[in-house]
Amino acid sequence: MIIDTHCHLISEKYGDLNQLREDSLALGVGHCVTQGTSAYDWEPQLALAARMPDFVSSCLAAHPSEVHAVSDEQLAHMEELCRRHPQAAIGETGLDYFWEAPEGWSDEAFRARQRMFLERHFALAEELGLNISLHTRDKVGLASFEDAFAIARNFPKVRPVFHCFIGDGAQAERIFCELDGLISFTGILTFNKSEHVQAVATWCPADRFMVETDAPFLSPAPHRGKVNIPGRTKFVVDKIAELRGVTSEEIAACTTANAKRFFRLPEGL
Ligand SMILES: [Zn+2]
Repeated sequence: MIIDTHCHLISEKYGDLNQLREDSLALGVGHCVTQGTSAYDWEPQLALAARMPDFVSSCLAAHPSEVHAVSDEQLAHMEELCRRHPQAAIGETGLDYFWEAPEGWSDEAFRARQRMFLERHFALAEELGLNISLHTRDKVGLASFEDAFAIARNFPKVRPVFHCFIGDGAQAERIFCELDGLISFTGILTFNKSEHVQAVATWCPADRFMVETDAPFLSPAPHRGKVNIPGRTKFVVDKIAELRGVTSEEIAACTTANAKRFFRLPEGL
């Protein structure tokens, strides 16, 4: 059984989530962790996880690209929801310095608000004994990575996963050694010109990586460009198995064990 550790199931791109579940089970993906992004998806996610507990676990947070749209009151409400409803982790949070700030915001003010949210999300994770799903993205350089790294260092009890990892070996080593963190691979691994991230997937210690789709985005080859579903984590698993010269079953087994531990999922899943 494969676990998709990062997707967004509350999306206008999806119609029938029962069908998505059936299609994903048919590809060997038995569970997925859906990540919150903004106030509109928090309560629907909780309802979905309650409706399909065997297939969906929920994480709530404000995505860094959404912090201008989430008020301080809504942030406090999200924290209350996490205290009242079981969560697999806090996510998706992080820092995104790739996109320009929204209208009416300076880059400086927008990034400062992203860092404030990230610190609040780390503090909540620490309070609730949860781990955290992190997004970092830069146009040039590593500023968002370094800034998120510096914040993570202040919360040694919270383990981060750097989701959709596309960094190099040196960054991966720092995540493992200095933060006791993990990385997770998406369908980007199956694209042409992803040799440097394929290299990391080849040597990465077996207890340090997980697999994900980031669905509905980043559909892997041979379905690139289509609306993605959790089931296609299978293609990420197959690619890692090919790179490491082992069976897909072995990669499914170690990534599922890592996901169960990281997200504190029930053993019986
Ligand atoms: Zn995401």
